[in-house]
Amino acid sequence: MVKILDGSALSKEIRGEVAEGVHYLKSSQKITPGLAAVLIGDDPASSIYVRNKGRACDEVGMLNETFLLPADVTQDKVLSLVRSLNNDHRFHGILIQLPLPDHLDEQTVIREVSPSKDVDGIHPFNLGELVQGMPSFIPCTPAGIQELLLRNGYDPGGQHMVICGRSNIVGKPLASLMMQRAYGSNATVTVCHTGTKDLIDLTRQADILVAAVGRAGFITGDMLKKNVVAIDVGINRTDDPKSSRGYRLEGDCDFTSVSQKAEAITPVPGGVGPMTIAMLLTNTLKAANRMSGQD
Ligand code: NAP
Repeated sequence: MVKILDGSALSKEIRGEVAEGVHYLKSSQKITPGLAAVLIGDDPASSIYVRNKGRACDEVGMLNETFLLPADVTQDKVLSLVRSLNNDHRFHGILIQLPLPDHLDEQTVIREVSPSKDVDGIHPFNLGELVQGMPSFIPCTPAGIQELLLRNGYDPGGQHMVICGRSNIVGKPLASLMMQRAYGSNATVTVCHTGTKDLIDLTRQADILVAAVGRAGFITGDMLKKNVVAIDVGINRTDDPKSSRGYRLEGDCDFTSVSQKAEAITPVPGGVGPMTIAMLLTNTLKAANRMSGQD
């Protein structure tokens, strides 16, 4: 029977640990860790993500505030908000909800966030430190995948991890993290993308397969070897008239056929998604501890 890697349950455990850290910082230093979220426009999925992150902050006792800007806001106004948040001592972390509307330059906005408040770990300074093996803030989804593996007894050390997808927030930082000579990493990493010649030849070599391509059911059981550990990052909305919302969420793995081959698999929803939020809280607590001289 395939083992389900339950990200919801694990995320609850980690959020409990974060709540203890928040309580300690409040009682010992009178500091409440704070997260500022910048949400631009009215994309429904982004609004849901930001609301969920806010709820998670509330639950662990963190201050959180969402700064909502209209979809047609100018780049100057966004940069000016980010600068004011960099200087706002109530907030130890700043989250820019991506993607941004097309007229805004995502990289310029990300670069404006102070690296010491970049709890998403996507500022080039923090990504550079990750590549060099001295990470301050590991991007939340890769960090969540590492925790999910380790806390379920799957040490990536010596394993062949095949990552499908090379985005700046998942594939590339996960590859950097996993190739480090360190506990919880030390994997042999292959990264696949649309330029990859024989994808199936590579996915069949995976001890750990990470699917982050953004296509529902893209990875099927016949693409994998027996007893692989399958990590499904994908969150795809598929039309479903039977659902009250009119859609359902599907991962990048075809759950039925992959479950038949895999030793373990993350479900969608309830796998990597909740772990990403848990690591955002962990990074925000870390930022607050650093600023208060506790770390
Ligand atoms: P992305 O920016 O959408 O990029 C997709 C990647 O997949 C690209 O590198 C692309 O290759 C590759 N790809 C697409 N089609 C492919 C194909 N046929 N063969 C091989 N490679 C292919 O990626 P992302 O932002 O990482 O998002 C991926 C998925 O994860 C989405 O469903 C997203 O919603 C989800 N996600 C979930 C979480 C979470 O917390 N669970 C966090 C972030 C993202 P090229 O580079 O060559 O175009």
